[in-house]
Amino acid sequence: MKRFITTLLFFAISFLYSQTPERERKSIEKQIIEAGVHYRKDNYEKSLELSKQALVRSFKINDPYLIAHSYNSIGVIYDDFSQSKRAIEFYDKALKYANKTENDSLKDWVYSNLGSAYYYNKIDVKKGIAYYKKSLFYAEKIKDSTEIAYTKLNLANAYFSYDDFDIGYEYLSQIRSYFENKGDAEGKFYLFNCLGVYYSSQGQNELAEDFFFKALKIGKKEQMDGLVMDVYENLSEHYKKYNQPKLAFVYEKKRKAVNDTLFSEKKLQSLEKYAIEIELDEYKSQFERIEVENATQQEKISITKTVSLLMFVILIVMLLLLYTFYKSNKLRKKLNAELTKANEELTLANKKAEENAELKNQFISTVSHELRTPLYGVVGIASIILEEHKKLVNNNHLHSLRFSARYLLALVNDILQISKMEENKIVLENSVFNLKEEINTIKNSLHFIADGNENTLTVELDPRIPKYLIGDELRLSQILMNLISNALKFTLKGEVKIIVLLDRIEGDVYFITFKVKDNGVGITKENQEKIFEKFVQLDRRSGDYQGTGLGLTIVKRLIELFESKIEVESQENKGTQFTFTIGFELAVEKVQPSKKMKQPISNLHILVVEDNKINQMVTQKVIERQKHTCKIVDNGHEAIEIVQQETFDAILMDINMPIIDGYETARNIRNLGMKIPIIALTAFDKNEVLKKATESGIDDVVIKPFSPTELFEVIFAHIQKNQE
Ligand code: ADP
Repeated sequence: MKRFITTLLFFAISFLYSQTPERERKSIEKQIIEAGVHYRKDNYEKSLELSKQALVRSFKINDPYLIAHSYNSIGVIYDDFSQSKRAIEFYDKALKYANKTENDSLKDWVYSNLGSAYYYNKIDVKKGIAYYKKSLFYAEKIKDSTEIAYTKLNLANAYFSYDDFDIGYEYLSQIRSYFENKGDAEGKFYLFNCLGVYYSSQGQNELAEDFFFKALKIGKKEQMDGLVMDVYENLSEHYKKYNQPKLAFVYEKKRKAVNDTLFSEKKLQSLEKYAIEIELDEYKSQFERIEVENATQQEKISITKTVSLLMFVILIVMLLLLYTFYKSNKLRKKLNAELTKANEELTLANKKAEENAELKNQFISTVSHELRTPLYGVVGIASIILEEHKKLVNNNHLHSLRFSARYLLALVNDILQISKMEENKIVLENSVFNLKEEINTIKNSLHFIADGNENTLTVELDPRIPKYLIGDELRLSQILMNLISNALKFTLKGEVKIIVLLDRIEGDVYFITFKVKDNGVGITKENQEKIFEKFVQLDRRSGDYQGTGLGLTIVKRLIELFESKIEVESQENKGTQFTFTIGFELAVEKVQPSKKMKQPISNLHILVVEDNKINQMVTQKVIERQKHTCKIVDNGHEAIEIVQQETFDAILMDINMPIIDGYETARNIRNLGMKIPIIALTAFDKNEVLKKATESGIDDVVIKPFSPTELFEVIFAHIQKNQE
């Protein structure tokens, strides 16, 4: 029976193994089937060799299903040669690999073979039963009725073998009809033989004998000698049990007879079997080697797998990185594009704003220039009239005219400055200067205002202050001039003090505190904030007061340019004090700033280049009143011509002229190799024109309107410089 089941195993493969996608798998499968065919033909050597090859190949492709099958077929061959323990070792291996698959048929067969190995070889019947039950579990799962029937038959036999007839019969009764109706001769034989044993155990002699004889009939017919021998043995046992020693003896004799024939047959084969057994031993060691090789191979594969996995992980990480990089790059490009676009728009807007600011600036500059020129005429002519017509000195209208014109001029100048500050166009310039000298100059120039209000003006200078400092002397004097003139204006018969103190030294920087203090009208607490706002004038009083209300606004902003702030302390009718502190760098080299020459020179012959008739007249009057002579030309061409014919001590040149402007004319004159001082007279802001003027060969710039003293100081200075 065992033989029957295992034979079936070989045929089952093609049905069980449905996954045959690869050629190698199919080929191995074919090899195992072939091994089964050789086994059935008792060609064990061939069957074993094919199974071994199949095992090696299965290991190579690491297919648990085929490995399990190869081991199973090897186990069957060992089993057949009664090497049950070894057979069990192979079945165990087969089971190990079968459990790695999902194939229930395979598990059913291997468990069934294990059950038979334990039971039929009487190694451990209970263990055999346990394996049969597992086999039955899978057979029922896959609903294989033949398998179910044979396993139950095996179970019945196993239970009978240790006299547990009730449970054995339970199984037997479940499959009786199956074999009676569908079973083949062999199946029926087993059923009848088994039923014979059962009924004999139950004392139902007739029934038992009936089944034994039915089995015997089939066995003889099918020439299954081994099975016939089994029935003879069972009959002999049966008669012995029921006190029929004669019959028992008869069947014992018959059993012996068959056994003898079988034994002699076996004897004939024994030589061959013996050789095969030796071979089996050799194969055993080969299998062990295969397994060791496979284990090493598996280890290698597992290392390779680990490495591959690592590589794969690295690759994925790199791909992810690459993807992230690509994405962020794309995003960056997009953002960049948006940024560029926004930037372009911004640049455009900025350009427009700049253009607008430039336009505004140009507008203010042009307007103030245009206003300054006629104002120069008005102020000049008013002064000329007052000087030339002594009887008009007390004429109020004329004084008012001059006052208004001067006021307008101051206003235009202040507006120009504020507008420049608002555009951040004013940058401090550093030069070496003598602070003491600077303060004295301011004091002297403001003397006439002090005298007007009968004020005393004093200076207190800290002796620790170094002589030479570095800073913007022009802006500093502008701040001080504004504050001091305010103090003098708002104080009557009082005292104005300029106090200059060294506050602290930080490295090279000397922080100097300036205080302008008066004991005049004072400013109320609530007005102290307001006075720095544009156009704020408190209690405008008499007509001779000159001011635009922009002075303190300019002062505050200039002090801010020096990175400082102004403070005011004041009490009504007691006086006011303005304080601020500015840091100046110490001048390392004691460079003496150039001093302007002021010695008067008489009888100068001056060329005036000016296109405006009123201005021509005013300038001519100013020159002639100082007892100098002049020649007036209307444009640059005439000037270039006349300088080549006549000798002049200096040229006063208007900048804004038609045909060729002052710069061009000066350049032409310099090209003639003439060194004569050229002084530009302009209504433009000095900072705007100075650079271009110097580049064109102009020596200095005097802004209209100018005082005669101011103008001649400049003329003298340059004539003397030329003569040195
Ligand atoms: P203004 O051109 O009128 O002097 P400022 O901006 O310089 O304009 O001053 C604004 C106002 O602050 C002045 O009109 C005056 O009322 C007040 N003020 C400035 N300085 C003093 C001072 N030393 N004493 C009293 N009042 C002053």
